[in-house]
Amino acid sequence: MILALAGGVGGARLANGLCKILDGDQLVVVVNTGDDFEHLGFSISPDLDTVMYTLAGRNNVALGWGIEGETWNFMQALEGLGGETWFRLGDRDLATHVMRTQALRHGDSLSKVTGRMFQQMQVACQVVPMSDDPVRTMVECDEGVLAFQQYFVRRRCEPVVKALHYEGAANARPSEAFRAALQDAQLDGIVLCPSNPFLSVRPILAVAGVEAMLRKVQAPVVAVSPIIAGAAVKGPAAKIMHELGMEVTSLGIAKFYGDLIDGLVIDAQDAHLAAAIEATGIAVAVTDTVMKSDRDQQKLATFTLEFVSRLRREQSR
Ligand code: GDP
Repeated sequence: MILALAGGVGGARLANGLCKILDGDQLVVVVNTGDDFEHLGFSISPDLDTVMYTLAGRNNVALGWGIEGETWNFMQALEGLGGETWFRLGDRDLATHVMRTQALRHGDSLSKVTGRMFQQMQVACQVVPMSDDPVRTMVECDEGVLAFQQYFVRRRCEPVVKALHYEGAANARPSEAFRAALQDAQLDGIVLCPSNPFLSVRPILAVAGVEAMLRKVQAPVVAVSPIIAGAAVKGPAAKIMHELGMEVTSLGIAKFYGDLIDGLVIDAQDAHLAAAIEATGIAVAVTDTVMKSDRDQQKLATFTLEFVSRLRREQSR
């Protein structure tokens, strides 16, 4: 069994590859909920939705978020009424938020409503939120402390980041399926998807007890670098690394995760960094890591799982 930790876009891409090559009961994908927020009366979970739409093959490729074939009547009507339109909600996407909000108000956990929606969308593998308790990523920046979506969408990641805080994480419990996966004797490996380390992976690791449980896991922990040739494929990962004084390379990613990981998959363009990363005690595997197509996603997923198997064999020697 493989446990994958994922945020939105980069995470969803690799999770999709893993989901296509593994049997449904061989994969648990744990998704960041630090980006979640309440808006216009709805409970919105952007990363869970990106993963759901991607794994269901219904993601909006042109936009990079949301659902395919979207229309915007609700947004236009809202604008006409003078409502808040800085966070875009498409007509189809709206159904997800309505259902989730209704279920949560009814007393269901986020895990329960997520499970139901993924089943309806016919996604074979298990996808769960990192926690059923609220965790909110807060961005300490040159404009003060901003709630995540205020920083990310409203301010388009322009403010200079000084620090990140995961509000509520210390008191949040990992979701039941997450805890069970971390303690499962059948766990063969953990994959940290190429998600934003600060905005997607760290919030998951910050949930109470998760890092300690992860350190106890015997199986190899492998990350896939979201930084390729000194840049992020998408989003502010490189900008934030720079603002926090980190080296914007896959070596910087290796140092960020440190002894939490046993291996790092880096892009062929960064092959020259392999020796420096290995000198920090982290094994390296080099391949093309840009996932443009479904085929790329499955190729990288297969490569990553082979790397996990190799590390497991080396451990048992
Ligand atoms: P977000 O919540 O939508 O920002 O999504 P994630 O945190 O999961 O993904 C953003 C990160 O994914 C960025 O740092 C990107 O560099 C990385 N990423 C996106 N697509 C790819 C890809 O095809 N390959 C790799 N290696 N990284 C990617």
